Amino acid sequence: MALSIRWKVTIGILLVLACGLLIARSLTVRSLEQQEIIQSGHILEAQSSLVAYGLQQVLTQPESLSSTHQLQAVVRDLSARALARVTVIAPNGQVLADSAVSESNLATVENQLAQPEIQQAVATGRGTDFRTSHTSGERTLYLAIPLHSPNQAGPSVFLRLGLPMTVFDREVDTMHRNLALAFGIAFLIAIGLSVWLAHSITKPLSDIAMAAQQLAKGDHAVRIQTGSRDEVGLLADTLNHMTNQLKAKIDELSEDRGQLLAMLTSMVEGVMVLDSRGRVLQINPALERMFDVTRMEVRGHPCSDVFRYPQLDTLVSAVLTKRMNAEDEILLHPSGRRLHIEASVTANDRENDVFAVLIFHDMTELRRLELIRKDFVANVSHELRTPLTSIKGYIEALLDGAKDDPETSTKFLDIILKQSDRLNLILEDLLQLSRIESGQILFKREPLHIQSVVERTLAMIKPLADKSGHRLVSFVEDNLPTVLGDEDRLMQVLSNLLDNAIKYTAGKGTITVAVHPVSDNAAQSSVVTAVELSVTDTGIGIPELDRPRIFERFYRVDKARSRELGGTGLGLAIVKHIVEGLGGRVWVEGNVPTGSRFVVRLPVQQ
Ligand code: ADP
Repeated sequence: MALSIRWKVTIGILLVLACGLLIARSLTVRSLEQQEIIQSGHILEAQSSLVAYGLQQVLTQPESLSSTHQLQAVVRDLSARALARVTVIAPNGQVLADSAVSESNLATVENQLAQPEIQQAVATGRGTDFRTSHTSGERTLYLAIPLHSPNQAGPSVFLRLGLPMTVFDREVDTMHRNLALAFGIAFLIAIGLSVWLAHSITKPLSDIAMAAQQLAKGDHAVRIQTGSRDEVGLLADTLNHMTNQLKAKIDELSEDRGQLLAMLTSMVEGVMVLDSRGRVLQINPALERMFDVTRMEVRGHPCSDVFRYPQLDTLVSAVLTKRMNAEDEILLHPSGRRLHIEASVTANDRENDVFAVLIFHDMTELRRLELIRKDFVANVSHELRTPLTSIKGYIEALLDGAKDDPETSTKFLDIILKQSDRLNLILEDLLQLSRIESGQILFKREPLHIQSVVERTLAMIKPLADKSGHRLVSFVEDNLPTVLGDEDRLMQVLSNLLDNAIKYTAGKGTITVAVHPVSDNAAQSSVVTAVELSVTDTGIGIPELDRPRIFERFYRVDKARSRELGGTGLGLAIVKHIVEGLGGRVWVEGNVPTGSRFVVRLPVQQ
């Protein structure tokens, strides 16, 4: 287990302290010992002179040296006075007398010539040594000096004083105990101090560590409060500064990211970002809708695996390998939508690494409008050219001589009149459409009862229906709410629909006009929000495929039939424009078993 800094600091301080105390203790003991030895040496020095003086008398009477008993008595006496062990040693090293040895045992004491103090005394006239005595077993300080008898050249004996250090050793023991006690107390205080010290050092550090952990967890509001002015305080300040900068950076990045996401989300165009290996990194909601996929499904997968369009794969690989912008158009299945793809490459910060960004524009509506425009131009020229060619042809025929035959010329002039009427009709319808589109025709917005519109139109159209042998039926519910609209325009809408119903119903059919209120289904309330006006016939009907297009200008299911019946191909386009101009909607359904049902839904006056 890893030790925390606090324990490392505490243990370190205590170890250093323990070593210091041990060293201090041994140095103190040693210095005391040396001092004691020096002091004892001085004492011995003084006492040796005293004892030497005491022995001088004995030395002057050499016969007394041979009397061990007498010498031993003198030595004992001197020893008692000097408070030291007194030994008299013959120059050959033999112990002549010793205060610490009984007379009877003197013979057994070993030769002392080899002892360091005797050797020194022989050499220099004074010798000292500090060792444990063989005889007493105590640590003893020895001092040896030669004693000379007046009528002898060399030393007659060596006087050796031994001072046992028993007292001193006891003092040292006591001192050891006191030191141990003092050191123990010091150690305890040191433990407390070092723990406090370690705590005061490591507390800011652990605060910093905790703050760093909080930061790592994403809490950017955390700040380190140390209150210290040292390096730790500096570190905390630096970290706080870093956190502020980091937070500012993260805020900036999140704001950028939010804006980018908002942009991507609100875009109508689909956006896809691929990495250099063609794997999907990001797609936006528009693209999810276009391909009916979710971001989670496609992220990280190769584009070719997710979107199975060979054209798209070719485009992606071309862009990524050549690193050039490219574009293409694909047809989605089964929706049939046309997507124009613009692919570009963006270099990454890292070299040789690129992103491909693909923008998908839904061109379906544009292509449809283009088609309508192309069809319109072709149709309008065709529609105008047909009667014009006919008029021109008949005029040429008249000029070529037909005018001379009154019957033929009347017939031809009749046709010319009909064709010019048709031309006029087309131009009027076109003009009306363009006026509605350009806003030149302003629809009135007055409250009107749809019932009266229906009645008046039916009265107007009835002769035509009767002439074709059709039955006109109407179902108008009572108490219909009023709608806001333009009566004349609504009558035009209804008459166009009825006119078509009559035209495209062969034989004797039934044409039904119905009006009923509609309530808002989504709100599940009974509040009437609209009125639905429908014209149903039992005629030839409209194939389902053509239904979405019949409101386009000049679009006809059967061109020849329409022309034959005198249609301009603009009636339904006018209907659609008027209804939408009044804020309503128009559509066509199939009628069962045959025929069509045109429905006009108009909002009611609130
Ligand atoms: P037209 O003058 O040719 O009738 P419209 O715009 O009124 O032009 O109608 C467009 C086409 O829609 C017609 O040519 C016809 O093919 C089809 N159509 C319109 N109304 C009906 C209907 N009630 N029954 C069948 N086909 C219809």
